[in-house]
Amino acid sequence: MSYEPVIGLEVHSELLTESKIFCACSAKFGAEPNENTCPVCLGMPGVLPVLNRRVVEFTIRTGLATNCAIAPVSRWARKNYFYPDLPKGYQISQYELPICTGGFIDIERENGVKRIGLTRIHMEEDTGKNIHDAHGDASLVDFNRCGVPLMEIVSEPDMRSPAEAGAYLRKLRSILRYLEVCDGNMEEGSFRCDANVSVRPSGTETFGTKVEIKNMNSFRAVEKALEYEIERQQRVLSEGGTLEQETRLWDPDREVTRSMRSKEYAHDYRYFPDPDLLPLEVPNEWVDEIRAGLPELPESRRDRFVAQYGLPAYDADVLTARKDLADYFETAIRTHANPKAISNWIMTEILRVVRERKLDALLVIESWPLPAEHLGRLVKLVDDGVISGKIAKTVFEEMLRTGGEPERIVEEKGLTQVSDDSAILAVIDTVLAQQSEKVTQFRNGKEKLFGFFVGQVMKATQGKASPEKVNALLRSRLQG
Ligand SMILES: [Zn+2]
Repeated sequence: MSYEPVIGLEVHSELLTESKIFCACSAKFGAEPNENTCPVCLGMPGVLPVLNRRVVEFTIRTGLATNCAIAPVSRWARKNYFYPDLPKGYQISQYELPICTGGFIDIERENGVKRIGLTRIHMEEDTGKNIHDAHGDASLVDFNRCGVPLMEIVSEPDMRSPAEAGAYLRKLRSILRYLEVCDGNMEEGSFRCDANVSVRPSGTETFGTKVEIKNMNSFRAVEKALEYEIERQQRVLSEGGTLEQETRLWDPDREVTRSMRSKEYAHDYRYFPDPDLLPLEVPNEWVDEIRAGLPELPESRRDRFVAQYGLPAYDADVLTARKDLADYFETAIRTHANPKAISNWIMTEILRVVRERKLDALLVIESWPLPAEHLGRLVKLVDDGVISGKIAKTVFEEMLRTGGEPERIVEEKGLTQVSDDSAILAVIDTVLAQQSEKVTQFRNGKEKLFGFFVGQVMKATQGKASPEKVNALLRSRLQG
């Protein structure tokens, strides 16, 4: 029997606000343990939460960008459970009336676009962090993260393979980064994903028993954990066993999932409306104002790059995955309008250096390996025939090293392309005279030696000869 996997994802993303959701403490990552705390986020008796307006704004922005309906009235709820990193004994979240519902995200697959539904997006506060094994037998707790604002983004169970789950996550992260609401850093935990996965016999509609997987801190880990879990569930069922609804942890070292606890149900949390916070009312005018301020999103920008610049879909996809990268590209082509050549330089050279310098971990890259205008001018030098494509690589390396301007480097290093026929012919004649034996072989039919002669001439001119000219002149000399 063959099985079909059914996957839904829950993403927790930390919002990039200055302060926490219900107090004025800093929400920044990386402070000394327990430095960013106050009576409110430590859950002292008698304190009252005050809602951070920015959190609501960022969540509405996300809801609008993912085609959700924004609720005019939503409600805060207490999710009750005990854990040492949760000093109040409950987490303030949203339950029966979330702020955003019913959106979708489109992902690109080989056979076209697939739409993944969003059940809801709600706001909540993050918990602290328990630290084990760092201090002998004692476990420590750091409350800095307590009260850092989170958005929980819950998808419909619309994904049918680990690859679709990966595509959905990448798309979602790209949108959040365009909106500048979350830095999407999975390693630091500001973009965390839990997956619900079940399998069912192919062709049936009823959902199987679902298992929740936690502890995956990269896109690759999510895909691997899902692959493993789908395999495991299929094996259990095909051997006649039954599955249990449970939470399982991904073990990245052994690359297996293992049972953590039986799944808790919503009623275990005894949700009830938080009596300290009023229902949240969002006026229409505010939603309109936020909508008007939305940036162009990756999907429409990609489509525009294809239509306006004639780029292949692949190039447009890579260039628009990040807002700053798409901006960089558009600045470069305003300097010199050769979109495909500039796209090639960005995808090979610029992104290589970006990865080497680990700039891709930044939410916004401000210091690029070289200014976009300089890249545009470098490509212009090639297109104008001033330098060859090969020499352009040398100029590029020099620009990286010194930060110098392309024209100046070409001039100072004497790299201008030689396209004067008589100068090139003189070199060709010298080369052919030195290689008389090979010339005879060529004339006797060893055609593939042609490339060798081209190489020798280019070498003798230190790569400065125009390759088209060399080809044409060599051809006429050898046939002459
Ligand atoms: Zn605080």
